[in-house]
Amino acid sequence: MDCVFCNIISGAIPAKKVYEDELLVAFHDVNPQTSVHVLAVPKEHIASAAVVGTSHKDLMGHLWTVIPVLAGQLGIADGFRVVTNSGESAGQTVPHLHFHLQSPK
Ligand code: 5GP
Ligand code: ZN
Repeated sequence: MDCVFCNIISGAIPAKKVYEDELLVAFHDVNPQTSVHVLAVPKEHIASAAVVGTSHKDLMGHLWTVIPVLAGQLGIADGFRVVTNSGESAGQTVPHLHFHLQSPK
């Protein structure tokens, strides 16, 4: 598939992975905006938050339990932000659902 994150998930494109389980992968952003900047990405190709539905309930619940684990692992548990851009007009550049996990600065 011609999707950069699907290609990272399959291993076709290398990435600095920090976490992986059956549903999710997380890796360092290639162009970090803050000193710690990781992307948490469902393995399922979901285009954006705009098309998340009830079939994704377990996946989304799981993701929000992994976020604090990742924050701890990355040493930013005291302060972090989680952002998802949905739609080009909101700044989404990769059309595969992802959550930016960033340190404050
Ligand atoms: P968006 O702009 O869609 O909210 O976020 C996409 C993010 O993916 C950007 O921060 C961008 O730097 C990152 N990104 C794009 N291509 C790659 C890649 O090939 N590898 C990694 N690790 N990050 C990427
Ligand atoms: Zn994809």
